[in-house]
Amino acid sequence: MITNDILASLRSIVGANGLKTGEALMLIHPGSDPHNLDAGVMVSPGNREQVAAVLRFCNENKVGVVPHGGRTGLAGGGVSTIGEIILSLAGLNRIESISATARIAIVESGVTLQALQEAAAEVNLSAGINIASRGSATIGGMISTNAGGMEAFRHGVMRHRVLGLEVVLPDGSILGDLSQVTKCNEGYDLKQLFIGAEGTLGVVTRAVIKLTPADEFTATALVACPSATHAVALLEKLQRDRSLNLLRAEFMASDYFVLAAANLGPASLAAFTDAPAYLILETDDPDQQAAQSRLEDALGLAIEAGLVVDAILAQSEKERNEIWNIREDSSVVDRVHPGGYWFDISVPLHALEAWLTRFHEAIAALGPDIKGLAFGHLGDGNLHVGVVGEAVQSDKDRIKSLVYANLRDIGGSFSAEHGIGVDKKPELHALVDPVKLNLMRAIKATIDPNGIMNPGKVV
Ligand SMILES: Cc1cc2nc3c(=O)[nH]c(=O)nc-3n(C[C@H](O)[C@H](O)[C@H](O)COP(=O)(O)OP(=O)(O)OC[C@H]3O[C@@H](n4cnc5c(N)ncnc54)[C@H](O)[C@@H]3O)c2cc1C
Repeated sequence: MITNDILASLRSIVGANGLKTGEALMLIHPGSDPHNLDAGVMVSPGNREQVAAVLRFCNENKVGVVPHGGRTGLAGGGVSTIGEIILSLAGLNRIESISATARIAIVESGVTLQALQEAAAEVNLSAGINIASRGSATIGGMISTNAGGMEAFRHGVMRHRVLGLEVVLPDGSILGDLSQVTKCNEGYDLKQLFIGAEGTLGVVTRAVIKLTPADEFTATALVACPSATHAVALLEKLQRDRSLNLLRAEFMASDYFVLAAANLGPASLAAFTDAPAYLILETDDPDQQAAQSRLEDALGLAIEAGLVVDAILAQSEKERNEIWNIREDSSVVDRVHPGGYWFDISVPLHALEAWLTRFHEAIAALGPDIKGLAFGHLGDGNLHVGVVGEAVQSDKDRIKSLVYANLRDIGGSFSAEHGIGVDKKPELHALVDPVKLNLMRAIKATIDPNGIMNPGKVV
């Protein structure tokens, strides 16, 4: 239990406004998981010294600490329980500096991706990473989950965007590894341990993020392909096309596209050509006219080559948003079929078609009341797979083994970009190399011997 004495000590560190319990906490949205706020105590430091003091106190008193950024995480990493405290990093929200020359930003961990994107855009730069939860997801949360998103096939995942990191360790000491350069070989690259650690090793308070030149004028198309193999071949062709700068290539299997387009509209997209596979493609160019006509030409050639059966090019920002909405508002599936079972997997591109065929056949064999839907980031072979229907809840174990059946044999992963949290702990323990798992446990025990950091998550 969090006693009144503990609350008083925490209040003395962060001030009365930095501590929320009871009704004050009920005004806060729990985010992606309804159990995120179950601890009932939220501590919100305003700077890293306060973060350090809170951790030092919690370590001495063996109080579990669950770090929270924007609470958009999708693997249960932010779930908290009574007896723990939630450590909100929302107050560490300063963009300290942006260097257009070095193309870097130094930010506190509670800065949202959108705030960084907007600040970078002012000097014609981009964060080089983009996810649909950008308005709430924080840099600290994205580092801690090693977020991916739509641009990862060009600029890498969060791990590749971080040049330097500041982390408060469970004993309150501060690891300052705020390098601003790509080439930095100074022994073990310890910051990498904290990237993707989901708050189990320490609290990220500051980061140096590598920026990229901003996109210029974009052209966007919705494309129907005869198969996933054709979609992959099209991606390969467009990536090699030097007249195009391919920014995004998002994949939607037929089942997902049909459901999303029918429910989100507009009618013109809902009536778009039937096909097994769809892509949203986006390119950019310094010349707006050229962006549009180069993509149009490339798609014309792709139609002649049989890689594409039909394509719609967005003619306005409104049309572009309508196309993107079909892919980004994927929660439409939950609104139409509540209680679906979701997976976040990676499949090597050469095995994509075979994996999708096997998945759809295996799900169809479960009966007419269950449906499998897939969409994702094509360039990385990252699929978000949903299995929906009334029978799903009673058949979860079977569905899980169907989805994971041969993933590791083909070189894929059961955990692509959302992390392990609590949701994928059984898979981590069952599927990863036991030597790796033992090393992970040893690292956890060394850095966090009292086990205060995000208890029960990952290891
Ligand atoms: C609509 C939608 C679209 C999404 N699209 C994508 C996508 O394309 N790609 C993708 O990768 N993810 C995506 N996500 C998932 C989610 O946005 C990411 O996982 C994001 O990185 C989480 O950031 P957050 O600030 O919300 O972290 P939270 O949800 O608050 O926390 C996530 C984890 O990180 C830990 N944590 C948070 N902040 C810190 C910190 N400062 N120090 C240490 N640990 C910390 C938490 O304890 C928890 O384990 C999406 C989510 C939604 C709702």
